[in-house]
Amino acid sequence: MSEVVVASTHLVDYALCPRRFELLHLLGLRDRAPSIRKTANRETKNPTDATTAQSARDEGVLLHAVLEHIDLRWLGHDDPAQGVERALIHHGIDPSHPRFSVLEQRIAQFLRSDYAREVAHTRATVLREEAFAVPVRGPSPDGTIWVRGSIDMIVRWPSGNVDIVDYKSSLAGSSNERYRVQLSAYRAAILHREGSGVLVRTGLVSLSEGEAEPRWLVADVDIFEYAARLVRSRLASRFNLIAPSGCRAISCGFVTYCHEGSHGAQTTFVKE
Ligand code: SF4
Repeated sequence: MSEVVVASTHLVDYALCPRRFELLHLLGLRDRAPSIRKTANRETKNPTDATTAQSARDEGVLLHAVLEHIDLRWLGHDDPAQGVERALIHHGIDPSHPRFSVLEQRIAQFLRSDYAREVAHTRATVLREEAFAVPVRGPSPDGTIWVRGSIDMIVRWPSGNVDIVDYKSSLAGSSNERYRVQLSAYRAAILHREGSGVLVRTGLVSLSEGEAEPRWLVADVDIFEYAARLVRSRLASRFNLIAPSGCRAISCGFVTYCHEGSHGAQTTFVKE
C-alpha cells in the first residue's frame, strides 16, 4: 500500500457495517424515493406525503445547503425568518410548498439558538463546509491512509478553542455511538491543522423541530483502526454483515437483501 484516501462518510458507513459500505459505495446501490426538489413545486393531494424516508434525506441535504450559504448576519438574529425564506427560495423551494414553513422553522430555530447568539455576540470566526484531509497514519512501510471530508460548521472562539458542529436532520432515536466515528475524524483533522494544544469540542445540531442547541459528544474513536480495517477489507474483498438487530438499529434498507435472500426482495435497489 502506498497512499490511500478514504472519505469520512465511507468510514462512518464502514464502521456501522462493512457490508453496507460495500453496497453503498462500491456497488453504488441505494433505495430511492422522490426528491423534495422534484416534488417541491408540484401539487400533492396529501402534503404530509412529502416526508418519505428518502425525501427526509433530501430535506437534510437542502437544510445543509441553506445553512452553508445563508448570510452569516442571520446567525444569532432575533428573527431570521426573512433570511431563511430568501435562502430557501434561492435553493429552489417555492413558498407554496407544504413543507416550506416547516423547513423555515427548522433552520430558524438554530439561527436564533443560544449557541448561535453566543457565536454572534463574541464575534467568533465561523467556517462552513470546510474541506479537510488528515493522515491517520504516518509514513511507514505500509504507507499512509488519508481521511478526507468536509465539516458543516467550525467555530473558532476568541480564546483559540474550536467547536466542530455537524448538522443532522434528526437525532430522534439515534444512538450517539453512530456519530462518534465521524466526529472523531473531524476532531483529528482540526488537531492536525491547528496543533494538539487546541481544545476541540465536537457536537451535533438537530435540525428537527424542537431541538436547537448543540449536543456535545466525546469523539475519542481511533479512526486509524477503522481506516486500516476498511483498507484491509478492500484488499481482501471481504465485507462482513452485521446481525439483524444491528441493521434495524441503523434503519438499514438492505435487510431483506442481506438476511432474507435476494429472491423476492422488497427493497428496490438502484444502480447509480
Ligand atoms: S442489512 Fe445489515 S448486514 Fe446488510 S448492509 Fe444493512 S446493516 Fe449491513
